[in-house]
Amino acid sequence: MITIHDKKFEVYITESEIEFAIEKITQKLFDDFQDETPVFIGVLNGSFRFVAQVIKNYNNNCTISFVKVASYHGTENAAIENLIGLNEDIKDKHVIILEDIVDTGNTVEYLKAELKKQEPKSVKIATLFFKPDVFKKDIKIDYVGIRIQDKFIVGYGLDYDGLGRNLNDVYALSENN
Ligand code: 5GP
Ligand code: MG
Repeated sequence: MITIHDKKFEVYITESEIEFAIEKITQKLFDDFQDETPVFIGVLNGSFRFVAQVIKNYNNNCTISFVKVASYHGTENAAIENLIGLNEDIKDKHVIILEDIVDTGNTVEYLKAELKKQEPKSVKIATLFFKPDVFKKDIKIDYVGIRIQDKFIVGYGLDYDGLGRNLNDVYALSENN
């Protein structure tokens, strides 16, 4: 049990389980994009560690960019603001969005629509964590690392009000708060 700000969290998924799941995603990406040079687009801040781990194992041509979509504060969902930081030309390229977690799907839905405006050859979504019970969108999540229950998690890049991104394991909000 650990405390972050005012809340107690318990270990939920270990670093080795996470990295095993990322290896499987990376293998699928490698198989699917073998003869291409895909553009990986990491969604900051939460995905930095997921992106680093994918790239570490992805032994083929690729480019890497990061964008930011302001969409979440604390433990409450908030409205999506906007997309910042896409400097790379993605026209006619295969794009893979790398997200830390897909919850309602608002963020990836918005992002996919924004990226499509630039006429890439394809846009796929890869997420490290996925909450199937919360997700309500009619879009495909192409690559999923780990499906989780509807819990608030921190660690491995994800934060609770700025803290916890440096934790190596993932922690879930405890029921004893
Ligand atoms: P969505 O738009 O799919 O509802 O939520 C996406 C964003 O909300 C994620 O990229 C992440 O930043 C944040 N988010 C959703 N669920 C969680 C969670 O359990 N923990 C943390 N730390 N962030 C979350
Ligand atoms: Mg995110």
